Amino acid sequence: MMRINVTRSALPPMEEYINEIAPLWDSRWLTNMGEKHKTLEKMLQEYFNAPNVTLFANGHLALEAVLTSLGLTGEVITTPFTFASTTNAIVRCGLKPVFCDVDPEYYTMDPKKIEALITPETSAIVPVHVYGTICDVEAIEAIAQKHGLKVVYDAAHAFGVRKNGVSAACFGDASIFSFHATKVFHTIEGGCVVYSNEKLRQTLNQIKDFGLAHAEIVIPGGNAKMSEFHAAMGICNLRRIGDYIQQRRQVTERYRANLAGVRGMHLMKEQDGVEPNYAYFPVIFDGAKLTRDEAADRLASHDIFARKYFYPLTNHCPAYGFRGDETPIAKNVSERILCLPLYPELAMEDVDKICEIVCG
Ligand SMILES: *Cc1c(COP(=O)(O)O)cnc(C)c1O
Repeated sequence: MMRINVTRSALPPMEEYINEIAPLWDSRWLTNMGEKHKTLEKMLQEYFNAPNVTLFANGHLALEAVLTSLGLTGEVITTPFTFASTTNAIVRCGLKPVFCDVDPEYYTMDPKKIEALITPETSAIVPVHVYGTICDVEAIEAIAQKHGLKVVYDAAHAFGVRKNGVSAACFGDASIFSFHATKVFHTIEGGCVVYSNEKLRQTLNQIKDFGLAHAEIVIPGGNAKMSEFHAAMGICNLRRIGDYIQQRRQVTERYRANLAGVRGMHLMKEQDGVEPNYAYFPVIFDGAKLTRDEAADRLASHDIFARKYFYPLTNHCPAYGFRGDETPIAKNVSERILCLPLYPELAMEDVDKICEIVCG
């Protein structure tokens, strides 16, 4: 059997990509917001049914750019149950992350615990739609309104997810997506900001292009532009996103059929009114035959690599002097959770074999 990783990047047929990039040999316009960049931005706007989309070189820089463009200061309430990028972006923007615990069912920020963390220094809430699960956006919106806070969602996992027909891109003041090769939709490396206030566009575009406006430096920007080759990959993948999500759904249903009801294994609940993207398949090991770590080791001995995603928590970070004791539920989840391999081309026999191994 071949090595199986937790994910495997989807790719369009090679000819399709070659056709997409062929015009670049004539135009010689390889980056700096060319035709492919413009086309992808427009396609995404339609896909999200959102008014404003700005592309970036990756999701992390998209998040840093939007935090900067909103002029945030002081403290930001966020979740530790996420990828390093969320917390790093907050710290790198000179803001202080204040960690809120998560909901025990869905692992997203628990809105009941937000208000106790608000101080006069708080300027924003940065929740994460972890595994593509939509946060309690209504409760978060109400708290933000009441206290005059901005809301920026890290929607890196939530591409294609809709709640009551509304795209995950359309909540809060802004959302960021990652288009990294490992994500449901990718541009190899890439990302974007989706936002409600059109006035952010100019600042976001300046931040990703050295802070320049007509050759003059107006803001200390960096370089976070998406190249034409990356945008072209996005154009090809966006055409096929429906198929990718459908294939992921079949894999997910096989996992659910095999693992539902197994003692000591908790599968993530499906959300009412939410159209999922089947991005991840997390399993909580709590009193099962194997512990999480034993299950991961046994898989590895068969050349199958699941991921302890998210372990450790980002507030359990010695480099930042964080200890992680303030979020006991997140800590408990992170010690028991394992994301099983999931990607469009994963064979059903392999899903069955993975299930057999983790059941011990
Ligand atoms: C992937 C990811 C990011 C970072 O995106 P990049 O495109 O890799 O920079 C940020 N947040 C979360 C939750 C992610 O999973």
